[in-house]
Amino acid sequence: MRKPIDDLVVYGNKNVKDVKKTSVVSPSPVNKIKITPTNSNTRILSGAQSFSYGQGSVALQGKPVMAGGTTGGSMNLGLNSDRLRHQMVERLKQKGITDARVLAAMQAVPRHIFVDQGLASRAYEDAALPIGFSQTISQPWIISRMLSIVCENRNPQNVLEIGAGCGYQAAVMAHLFPVVYSIERIKGLYDMAREHLRDLRLVSRVRLVFGDGMLGLPAYAPFDAIVIAAAGMEIPSVLLHQLRVGGRLIAPEGTSNQRLVLIERTGEASWDRSELEAVRFVPLRSGIQS
Ligand code: SAH
Repeated sequence: MRKPIDDLVVYGNKNVKDVKKTSVVSPSPVNKIKITPTNSNTRILSGAQSFSYGQGSVALQGKPVMAGGTTGGSMNLGLNSDRLRHQMVERLKQKGITDARVLAAMQAVPRHIFVDQGLASRAYEDAALPIGFSQTISQPWIISRMLSIVCENRNPQNVLEIGAGCGYQAAVMAHLFPVVYSIERIKGLYDMAREHLRDLRLVSRVRLVFGDGMLGLPAYAPFDAIVIAAAGMEIPSVLLHQLRVGGRLIAPEGTSNQRLVLIERTGEASWDRSELEAVRFVPLRSGIQS
């Protein structure tokens, strides 16, 4: 019998290193691009995805993000957010996202409540935005792209996200999959994600875990799909083993030069790997940060 998820709220420890690595990666030579909250968790498109923000955003570091709707600015945005989201979804379609299930899930989740009020007016731009702790909420396009890939010709049921951040992608996944687990290694972000999911009444649909996602969640494996929202040098082999046969894992891989990588488990001991577009994500790190 499976353990209740609450037993797993702290999972992993600060010194854990993933010892078993798959040899699927050959990181490209270093091309020194500094990864910052302003350019991460996006697709790389010749200069198009940069985001700049004012001085006030410095205060974002470590500052909890409050759910919107309590101030004039957020309330106004809340009233208009269906329309803004519709425009965001139209832009995603123009950029090649076709899966109707994914587009409906993107339409369903109010992205502005996941970012600081000072950034709420930019929530429906196709850009990554800072969420504190040097991390970002991923670009809508990259989220819909990754989810479309794991859904293609499939109907995943039991899905794992690594890197919950502020919980936005987990909320989108809750509209797509019956069972969603999401792991976050930074306690402040885990708390933030939990608060956002609670505000959206999604806590029962996303099993949020504070822990090291590089270890996966063996008690709840196998997963039909695994989505990794941070880039490691290699995809931890332990995660490949937690995929169901026929299941798909999508992850950014690399350090300065990153690519989206799709792994499909084809048998007990066999996986297919394909490399997709160039991307830039925040780093996948081992251990937890309290
Ligand atoms: N899914 C988010 C993206 C968050 S950014 C969204 O909805 O936009 C990536 C996140 O991965 C960060 O919050 C970072 O702390 C987390 N992360 C990095 N390494 C991790 C690990 N080993 N386990 C769990 N989370 C990790």
